[in-house]
Parts: sequence; structure tokens; C-alpha cells
Amino acid sequence: MSDLPPTFPAARYRGRLAPSPTGHLHLGHARTFWTAQQRARAHAGSLVLRNEDLDPHRSRPEYVQAFLEDLRWFGLEWQEGPDCGGPFGPYNQSDRGPLYRATLEKLRAAGFVYPCTCSRKDIQAVARAPHPADDEVLYPGTCRPKENDRGAVSSGKSEDARAEAATRQGLPPTQVNWRFRVPDGEAISFEDGACGPQSFVAGHDFGDFVVWRHDDVPAYQLAVVVDDAAMRITEVVRGADLLVSTARQLLLYRALGLTPPAFFHCPLLTDARSQRLAKRHHALSLRTLRQQGRTPAALREE
Ligand code: GLU
Repeated sequence: MSDLPPTFPAARYRGRLAPSPTGHLHLGHARTFWTAQQRARAHAGSLVLRNEDLDPHRSRPEYVQAFLEDLRWFGLEWQEGPDCGGPFGPYNQSDRGPLYRATLEKLRAAGFVYPCTCSRKDIQAVARAPHPADDEVLYPGTCRPKENDRGAVSSGKSEDARAEAATRQGLPPTQVNWRFRVPDGEAISFEDGACGPQSFVAGHDFGDFVVWRHDDVPAYQLAVVVDDAAMRITEVVRGADLLVSTARQLLLYRALGLTPPAFFHCPLLTDARSQRLAKRHHALSLRTLRQQGRTPAALREE
């Protein structure tokens, strides 16, 4: 992680905008980002733009260009980012691989993670239903080592453990996920700036989660913690669909000995049928709204 530049005032508010270039941004994203900007301004702080192009299969450079243009059009301004640089770069997640890998190694060495060879199908077949506020099914624990085997996972290099787990299943060694072992039964509680007190029980509301994918891509949970900590973010403003993920991320902060930021989860914008907006809702993409002659000022209020 980057060292704090000597002149950097550590206590100043730092917020972030973290779009993924997997489609065009919609009004829901823009409204949340607008709140992030208002909060940064109210605290006389700064805003970081981070390009979350972590997933090479889903991210496309043309969507990066599109979000830069759409965000500016909507009236957003950032002080650090992939387009303007800054002291905590690089600001593209695709350029931050070594930081993520080093963090996986730390987690592995301390015995917080284990290799998992389950396919999505295996998990679906035995998993319990997801928490209603979250999309991820509870991992049934198939590959979780017994308590007294934990040392075995942490004693070797992760490559060895990965190879070993894969060989047992007859898979090429790269095809394993690394999962974080959650403390079953522990309530992970936090005060959310927008939603108030929150509490999620590990092993009940969420299970052992992936921090590194079988296709050798770091998972969102790991990358976002590494980046928010390294970029000295003091408050995370994002959509309420990520409340349960915040509990997962708090476990990662604790495991890594890092201080978590404050959290402010904005209510999600829904369509006429109360479905939450997604990138597939083209009708409400910022591009479409702009082409229809809608103005940012009106769209912020509506
Ligand atoms: N890139 C993530 C998304 O677009 C951001 C998640 C976050 O703000 O932590 O959903």
C-alpha cells in the first residue's frame, strides 16, 4: 500500500466514485454519485474517481470513456482519477494487481482464506437461499477446512495449497476460488450514515465469500477494501444493495488490521414496477436521458 505523503492531512474527508465499466451508467448511479459529491463538499473534502475495471471479461474501455463523459455532463467533479492522476494512483483497478495479490498472500498466511473447488452449480445445489437484501447464496462450506486443518492451509505458499486442492478434484491448479472463512454466529454491526444501525450475522446473513476467483481475478470484496484503505477514503457512499457486503468488508478490514471508513448507503432508485435499476434498464441510462434533452439539474431533483 502506498505510504502517506508527508504533507497529506490525514483527517480530511475523502470520498470516492467507483463506477464499473460494464455498461452505461443509469440515473440511480448518478444520484448516488451526486450524494457522494454533496457530502464531500459539505465536509470541504475531496473526491476520488476509481475505475473499477477489475473483471477483464465484463469491462470495456468504451464504457470508461462513456462514464467519464456522462459523469461530467451530470455535473460531477473529482480531484483524483484515471484521467487526472493524483497521489494515490493508479486509479484503474486493472493496474493494481500486485496490491491485491499481496493482500491475498497476507490473508492466506494468516489462515483467513482457503481454496475452494466448488462450481457455481455445486453451490446452487446445496446452498441455502440468499439473504433477502443480497444476491449471493450462502456457501454451504463444502471445501471449508476443519478448524484443526487451518494451519495446513496457511503453512504452505498459496500456490501449493491451490494446486493441492485442485489436484484433489482433478482440476487445473488455477481453477480454484479463495474464500474468506467467516466467524459463524458473530453479528457484524455498524452505524450507517444514511440507514442507521445495521447488523448482519456471519454464517446466517452471508457465508464464506470469494476473495479471489478461479479465473485468477481478484474478487470485488477484496479489491474494494484494498483500494478504499490505500486511497485513504474516509467515507464510502454507495447504493443500499451493498449493505450486506459492508459486513463482509468489515471482516476483511479487521483481518488485515486496517481501519474501516464510515459508510453511507443511499436508497436505490426503482422503476415503475419497483424493480431496482440495473445497467440493462437502457431507458434510464444517462445517455438516453441526455439524448431526450433532459437536463442534469432536473434529473437530480426528480
Ligand atoms: N464498482 C462497484 C459497482 O459499480 C462499486 C461498489 C462500491 O461502491 O463499493 O457496483
